[in-house]
Amino acid sequence: MGYVNFRGVNKQYSNADFLSVTDFNLEIEKGEFIVFVGPSGCGKSTTLRMLAGLEEISGGEIEIDGRIVNDVHPKDRDIAMVFQNYALYPHMSVSDNISFGLKIKKTPKDEIKKKIEWAAEVLGLTEYLDRKPKDLSGGQRQRVALGRAIVRNPKVFLMDEPLSNLDAKLRVSMRNEITKLHRDLGATTIYVTHDQIEAMTMADRIVVLKDGFVQQIGSPMDLYLRPQNIFVAGFIGAPQMNMLEVTLLDNIITLENGQTIEMPEGLKKQISNNPGKYVLGIRPEHVSINEIEIEGFPDQVVKSEIVNLERMGATNNVFTKLGSSDIILTLPSRMTQNIGDVIEYRLDLNKAHVFDKETGEAII
Ligand code: ADP
Repeated sequence: MGYVNFRGVNKQYSNADFLSVTDFNLEIEKGEFIVFVGPSGCGKSTTLRMLAGLEEISGGEIEIDGRIVNDVHPKDRDIAMVFQNYALYPHMSVSDNISFGLKIKKTPKDEIKKKIEWAAEVLGLTEYLDRKPKDLSGGQRQRVALGRAIVRNPKVFLMDEPLSNLDAKLRVSMRNEITKLHRDLGATTIYVTHDQIEAMTMADRIVVLKDGFVQQIGSPMDLYLRPQNIFVAGFIGAPQMNMLEVTLLDNIITLENGQTIEMPEGLKKQISNNPGKYVLGIRPEHVSINEIEIEGFPDQVVKSEIVNLERMGATNNVFTKLGSSDIILTLPSRMTQNIGDVIEYRLDLNKAHVFDKETGEAII
């Protein structure tokens, strides 16, 4: 039994004629770092806010540490929440912002002092304790908000897009700080983001949502290696997985451009030669221009014109087309071809994912 349990949780806002969250089920172990990820409007915040008690639950049950909390007041749920906009008190010092919740709870003064010192030490805020929020950088303000949460020693931490107001560089360093803090404190944490890179880099387990429905739950590598449907396959991984519409007949795959490829052994097991139309998913990094691979797998080699090229430093993102499908290839930056050239590359079909064209479900 998990530490936090969602059982068949639904949410319908009173002014809506649809469910914003449908039949949400999840068991979270004590100390886990869970990330809810998905595009805007998929129900991440609503789910988090139901756990916090900030939104009513329309159906199902939420349990924290063995207690059903459906009707428990937010302040009695022993949860601390960190938001995107910090929500610091502008007229109070860092020290007073961190300790505000403890003072309200009438915690003894010497205990408050110890906790402020500890949080400031953990978060590198010791020299800023007397400053006001306006005299801090965005990253420091977010650390104050984290400080206010950790001194309360809650059962569960909830974080709703806490890094989206920060610039790209600061996001990367705060991402590291939050995961390190989680390792140090071992506190159960649920983190909401629309950013798949945050999900991949921070989570023990990721919950992918779309239109209020859970698409898949798994570790970052589970989702990367074994996406259960086209949506998850496209959402996790950057650049995005390439999706090719193909026809399969007698162990021969026909690409949209008419080219035929003999099905490799690995794939034969997956599709067991049921003829029909499929979507073949190939990640940009599972494509190669290495001569040995091209010579070794001549029937997996395709040719197309480079439409655009982005230099990332270590690698290039190469944009091309196969039939009507846009394709991205991640290739070594030392490649000599340029925009307008025809490039020859091997699609590593042993690493390909096969999806049912109608349902979008992975065929395993
Ligand atoms: P996310 O956090 O993934 O961006 P939300 O949980 O905020 O998504 O929203 C999920 C769905 O619920 C969306 O369709 C959104 O428009 C709707 N929604 C969110 N808040 C309200 C509200 N207060 N009243 C009505 N509908 C809402």
